[in-house]
Amino acid sequence: MMDEHPRRSAHDVALAQYDEAVSLMPDLNPNAAAIMRVAKRELTVNFPVEMDDGRIEVFTGFRVHHSTVRGPTKGGIRYHPDVSLDETRALAMWMTWKCSLMNLPYGGAKGGVIVDPKRLSQVELRKMTRRYATEISVLMSPEGDIPAPDVGTNPQVMAWIMDTFSMHRGYSVPAVVTGKPVQIGGSEGRYDATGMGVMLLAREALKHLDIPIDGATVVVQGFGNVGATAARYMHGQGSKIVAVSDVYGGVFNPKGIDIPELQRYVAQHGAVTDFPGTERVSNSELLELECTVLIPAALEGQITKDNADRIRARIIAEGANGPTTPNADKVLADKGVFIIPDILCNAGGVTVSYFEWVQSLQSFFWSEEDVNRQMERLMVNGFDAVLHEAERKKLVPRMAAYTLAIARVAEALELRGVYP
Ligand code: NAD
Repeated sequence: MMDEHPRRSAHDVALAQYDEAVSLMPDLNPNAAAIMRVAKRELTVNFPVEMDDGRIEVFTGFRVHHSTVRGPTKGGIRYHPDVSLDETRALAMWMTWKCSLMNLPYGGAKGGVIVDPKRLSQVELRKMTRRYATEISVLMSPEGDIPAPDVGTNPQVMAWIMDTFSMHRGYSVPAVVTGKPVQIGGSEGRYDATGMGVMLLAREALKHLDIPIDGATVVVQGFGNVGATAARYMHGQGSKIVAVSDVYGGVFNPKGIDIPELQRYVAQHGAVTDFPGTERVSNSELLELECTVLIPAALEGQITKDNADRIRARIIAEGANGPTTPNADKVLADKGVFIIPDILCNAGGVTVSYFEWVQSLQSFFWSEEDVNRQMERLMVNGFDAVLHEAERKKLVPRMAAYTLAIARVAEALELRGVYP
């Protein structure tokens, strides 16, 4: 998919979105605008890992802090062959806007290692994670920068990061990461939070457009944490999931796919392809299928000016970060597609990560019911605030979300002032 569409880099996209939002904010202080346009600090690390066969392999990783004015930085760690400083920078900036929009007391960060984790044994993955965690520990702490899972990482990887940091300190520091297993201080509800949040906002958007969720048709690109969870919750609401995909390709059944059954199949076979009762579709064909809700939940740069005019969805719920380019946004706006922008749509993850951090700091744990109720409240409030701003200022939801988020960071910058 990524190769079929020559695309602007993720950072170019993030900057184009930022510049467009700033152009809509005549009262924004230009000094604040210049400060927010760049990342505060960027770390590149090259580090050796001893592989199972005794060879030494040198890996490259990154950690970027975009902004620290609203609090410590927060953002996931990605293990993927396409990770780059440019991509990490874009993802860190998007995290600043997401945390600000949701009014969480954080700035944005992101990290990653250039690696295909599926190629490593568990021992190699653990060693690589521990060494990467050590390399970025100059930037990471429960008070300063709190990582979380992203593409290619999971609760186990977070457990190793937490353990590595704790070994250096000499005592357990559960608040240094979120998305860790519940048994070692993780939060109930965190694993499902992003996908559940995507469903909640798809539900709000459907309500807004007067379309019943029961019977709505849904297409999901990516069947990992976000995609599979969103698909399962939409399925649970009575929607018909007609197609899903992963990195190996997609499956399609116009009558609807049994998602819990597909999850069992993926646990056994490692991919969605060849799931009984479905036809194959490519990742690019899948995006163009007719549906009520399209949920991109894989990587950025999937919906571009090259395929935007062939998108046949009524709503795009951006589970992934940065799946739609600014040029595609324009085409989709003209077609009347309702886009729930990434910084709002997938914010359930960082919202429950915030709850997890608070629980870890206090060693006082909430029930799953409390977590889900608080998350739903913040997500629905966020949706209402963005919709209200979009209607008030006649903006597309993405620009409404951006201007709200940027204004809040600018306000914090002005209150704190420039040091020294
Ligand atoms: P994951 O690693 O759990 O799953 C990624 C899925 O995408 C896998 O099914 C993989 O096979 C598929 N995929 C990878 N490359 C692909 C390609 N080129 N074409 C099609 N499918 C491909 O990752 P995740 O945590 O579910 O993250 C997915 C997206 O959601 C990312 O954009 C991430 O930044 C974003 N996100 C994640 C969280 C979270 O809490 N995990 C929160 C907010 C946003």
